[in-house]
Amino acid sequence: MAQKYSFLNGEIVPHEKAFVHIEDRGYQFSDGVYEVILIVNKKLIDLEGHFDRLLRSLKKLSINHDIKKAFLVENIHQLIEKNAIINGSVYLQITRGVYKRSQIYPSDLSPSVVMKMSPVEINRTLGEGLSIMSHEDIRWQYCDIKSISLLASSLLKKKAYDQGFEDVVYIKNSFITEASFANIFIVDEDNTLITTPADESILEGITRNRIIELAAANGIKIEYRKFSLEEVLSAKEVFLTSSTLLVRPVTSVDDKLIGKGEIGQLTEKLASLYYDFIGV
Ligand code: PLP
Repeated sequence: MAQKYSFLNGEIVPHEKAFVHIEDRGYQFSDGVYEVILIVNKKLIDLEGHFDRLLRSLKKLSINHDIKKAFLVENIHQLIEKNAIINGSVYLQITRGVYKRSQIYPSDLSPSVVMKMSPVEINRTLGEGLSIMSHEDIRWQYCDIKSISLLASSLLKKKAYDQGFEDVVYIKNSFITEASFANIFIVDEDNTLITTPADESILEGITRNRIIELAAANGIKIEYRKFSLEEVLSAKEVFLTSSTLLVRPVTSVDDKLIGKGEIGQLTEKLASLYYDFIGV
């Protein structure tokens, strides 16, 4: 059973006892960062990429820490064993720490570090194509930081679900940025893979980067550029990537079919290359 044990500030504790103080700045100011790492056959997928991005996020928020990768990894493996996880994901969150509620805080707070596990069903099937909607990107300006401040995305994803869609893709200054919790790729008529450049308007996904690497290694043309909703609607294929979605085809946006509304060949090929890479 997943979530029997979690990690709380250096210790593995029963999940139901994993409490953080009400004065934690994550709770009061969403002052923290997180990572979600996929686990396949008890192996951490793209650990280096996730750990490097964690350090970048911490640095951008000036959260002082002495997190050691080896220590985290050792504890993740303990959680994998204690929760009997084979395929799943680990959620890792680091907040600035506990302090009286104040906008001004000491620079040397001791960060709160928590981790919890979830099982994920992983197989080589792509599943149904997603039906998603578009919406103005109402998030803050530093989307390259994997911040725990996820209210805008959560509100919009709920809005999408309430309207019968499965996800939401954001539009900022007339261009698509990304989906609520995933990166977006489109494929044009020439079978070129197009994705948004990694700037402050998106989170540079670890899965995105891996897909780009696999595409390049397999002779697929790639373009990094911004694209509009119209381009998405007239694309040959559209798909999303994330550590828990893996590669997920999108077959309609705002109730308009992408192509014939079928899963595209390049999406299937890239998904297959990714399954090979993660060993499923
Ligand atoms: N973009 C956003 C906003 C996300 O929240 C996520 C993952 O949660 C991603 C992209 C995909 O990132 P990754 O592939 O590293 O999971």
